[in-house]
Amino acid sequence: MPFIYRWLTSVQTQLLGPRCVLCRAPASLARELCGDCEQELPWLTHACVHCALPLTGTVGITRCHRCARQPRFDRALAAFAYDQPIRWLITRLKFDGRLAHARLLGDLLAERVVHAGLDAPEMLVPVPLHPSGYRRRGFNQSERLARRIARVQRRPVASGLVERVRDTVAQSTLSADRRAANVRRAFVCHGSLAGRHVAIVDDVVTTGQTALAVARCLRTAGAARVDLYCVGRA
Ligand SMILES: [Zn+2]
Ligand SMILES: [Zn+2]
Repeated sequence: MPFIYRWLTSVQTQLLGPRCVLCRAPASLARELCGDCEQELPWLTHACVHCALPLTGTVGITRCHRCARQPRFDRALAAFAYDQPIRWLITRLKFDGRLAHARLLGDLLAERVVHAGLDAPEMLVPVPLHPSGYRRRGFNQSERLARRIARVQRRPVASGLVERVRDTVAQSTLSADRRAANVRRAFVCHGSLAGRHVAIVDDVVTTGQTALAVARCLRTAGAARVDLYCVGRA
């Protein structure tokens, strides 16, 4: 009887219950992640408030050296350091189309944004893909993340607002000093944002050049405040 019971329980869980995407242990109904794996994620708790660069040392310091001279975003928040298993979750999202990872990571990022007490923007602006990249992938991962934050903040996702007009080389293939040139004039903003507060949403921010290029075009369109939300920060 105990064996039958265990077998039935196992079958039932496999058929009905959500499983942790990382270890396959039973997960809560709310998300496909178990409590142990959630605790062990590389949460980013001490980072620059203007660019989310991880900070080391004194807890009282809130800005990196560069943002102390000129803040790169009005506010920036990254949920995680770009380490494992965040790298794996994002890579499988982008290249295997595992959209469940966007729901999970978007929800975790939304919780961090709320917990940080950031003022909700008037709209969320996902970093766009070039149309040819979008056709290849079939979805924009940043837009999928933004949708989850939008549910919590009750703000719209302005998907068509910014367009990527140059099919740039993947930033990850370039050295840090070539990345700014690669994304220069890559984005255009359709419409006026006079006095508006917007938040850019991206999956991973490394040198920040892509998000900065989007921020520049939003500010040129008149945005008064540009924040940045991202899942992983290298
Ligand atoms: Zn787990
Ligand atoms: Zn900074």
